[in-house]
Amino acid sequence: MAGFIFGEFEEEKVACPSCKWIGLGKDLKPIEFHESLIFDLGCPICMEYIGFMSCPITEQYEAFKKRTNS
Ligand SMILES: [Zn+2]
Repeated sequence: MAGFIFGEFEEEKVACPSCKWIGLGKDLKPIEFHESLIFDLGCPICMEYIGFMSCPITEQYEAFKKRTNS
């Protein structure tokens, strides 16, 4: 699985291939940030890589970071 869309992935059903966790995209944890507003999302239980997402604008990126860091 790859290529989540910001604003849509939150309600998408995702499953972890490693620990069999099933949940929604909004429960995923960002595990690595890249340049160009792209980051990897991983399983909240075992941190297995699930997919990547790119934010269209910096504002959304900052909002997401703020939300996931709190
Ligand atoms: Zn997992």
